[in-house]
Amino acid sequence: MDVVTLTETGERDFFEGSDGAYYTPVRGVEARCRWCRVWGHQGDLYYRQFLYTRRAKLVCGRHVQREDDWRGPA
Ligand SMILES: [Zn+2]
Repeated sequence: MDVVTLTETGERDFFEGSDGAYYTPVRGVEARCRWCRVWGHQGDLYYRQFLYTRRAKLVCGRHVQREDDWRGPA
């Protein structure tokens, strides 16, 4: 399963993904992930969108890796 790396954009709760999409964490929502069909729960879903389009979907946190989570060598 591919994992998208998210980079901070400077905007709060708004990340740029390594796949060119933009991601916003969603809390307090229960919905199925559009990629793996697993139910995501609080704090474990991201709203994935491309700017200037209406294509958007919810994906779960299993597919994304926040850059600030890395603890490896720079
Ligand atoms: Zn998923």
